[in-house]
Amino acid sequence: MTSTLLPTSIVGSLPKPSWLAEPEKLWSPWKLAGDQLRDGKQDATRAAVLEQAQRGIDIISDGEQTRQHFVTTFIEHLSGVDFENKQTMLIRNRYEASVPSVVGAVERKAPVFVEDAKFLRTLTNQQIKWTLPGPMTMVDTLHDAYYGSREKLAWEFASILNQEAKELEAAGVDVIQFDEPAFNVFFDEVADWGVAALESACEGLKAETVVHICFGYGIKANNDWKATLGTQWRHYEKSFPLLQRSSIDTVSLESHHSNVPLEVVELVRGKRVMLGAIDVANQQVETPEEVAETLRKALEYVDADKLIPSTNCGMAPFPRDVALAKLSALSAGAAVLREELAGVRV
Ligand code: ZN
Repeated sequence: MTSTLLPTSIVGSLPKPSWLAEPEKLWSPWKLAGDQLRDGKQDATRAAVLEQAQRGIDIISDGEQTRQHFVTTFIEHLSGVDFENKQTMLIRNRYEASVPSVVGAVERKAPVFVEDAKFLRTLTNQQIKWTLPGPMTMVDTLHDAYYGSREKLAWEFASILNQEAKELEAAGVDVIQFDEPAFNVFFDEVADWGVAALESACEGLKAETVVHICFGYGIKANNDWKATLGTQWRHYEKSFPLLQRSSIDTVSLESHHSNVPLEVVELVRGKRVMLGAIDVANQQVETPEEVAETLRKALEYVDADKLIPSTNCGMAPFPRDVALAKLSALSAGAAVLREELAGVRV
């Protein structure tokens, strides 16, 4: 990654402009179509890159301005999936959703995000990050009427993701992140094939690889679930030892305002850690000191040169001004700690 100490980056989405999609709504449908939609996504990406750069974010992403949904937008580009006859399914064992159905062999007929990533590459000289869904989370966001095995389907997706990731890398993407919130739910499958499928998706990549695991966006179903989890969210204890032994470079987790005990970070010692120091379920903008304090506490469990200050998850549902202010808070908080660490070294 970059040579900056404590390089900042966001996990995923930023709010979309109101002319592109209905604001303050997760997975909001596009307001444009055809060429207008392509141009609109590019303009929104320009704005997202500019805001990140001006507010001191080091590793730049498109703020997911090119996606409606972090999983289904990718799946829409695959053959073998029926989007017409949606099925109701329980997602992450938590909330019902109407999802597409796998009805034949899944295949990537053409690149999905590669043109978008090439465009992002033209907008900045800073390092860029692209996000893809992880194989297990893809499986858990679909109804399967063809493979009859979550594992088998995951391996198919891993192969497809690997093709896409290699082309993103060739397009100049420095960091490729896989979102695997399902790793905090299906512990047996994570051990049996989840981590292995993820490693397979990353096979042969020279780009940095990240796995983002979390307790979900700040939506009601997730907030209600979190309320049942008690005072110690120890879920990461299941996947982190496996990830520590894996080929994945960086592990991303939520921390600020969560009940995740920070000592879980010790379980991935040696890996880079993207630590969430910005709450995405609360519109109150953090002070730089609050951000610095969250990061400071983590230094007991992760070396400073491996810590990447980040958000807990995506910020799509926030009003735009709130999300942008949180970007500034993130970089200001990282700067506070960077200065402290520089002082220590002198
Ligand atoms: Zn997340």
